[in-house]
Amino acid sequence: MASNLAAPVPGAVTDQRLWAQVVRYARCADSGLDPDDWFPVSIEPATARQEAATAIAICTMCLVRAQCLELSLRHWKIGQHGIWGGLVPADRARLRRLLPTGHGWCGRTAGSEGAAAVSRELARAGWTSHER
Ligand code: SF4
Repeated sequence: MASNLAAPVPGAVTDQRLWAQVVRYARCADSGLDPDDWFPVSIEPATARQEAATAIAICTMCLVRAQCLELSLRHWKIGQHGIWGGLVPADRARLRRLLPTGHGWCGRTAGSEGAAAVSRELARAGWTSHER
């Protein structure tokens, strides 16, 4: 007998939930770094990564790196500046262009082609698969 129950469909992760997680677990909150260390001056990605290397190293140990990155992509007006999720602005901008409009990747709402492109871009930017 067929069930009338549809398989549960995971909903998108809300902004509120993402912010709550980031506020609670952000490694940068007690990093002791100068705020300027989170804002590379250079536009060129490789140089920007060098300028922000200390901050990026902190992000690599952060439990909410994915959530942080997603918030930057969702709220681009503020998310385009500085280091978010261990990525410099140019890397995030490239990532953002790969995503369908209005869709995040943390909530896994991007299509399969978009998800594959995002995975490649994250790998190129130094992410490891366990962080997604
Ligand atoms: S990923 Fe980096 S910028 Fe984002 S909350 Fe964690 S430490 Fe802070």
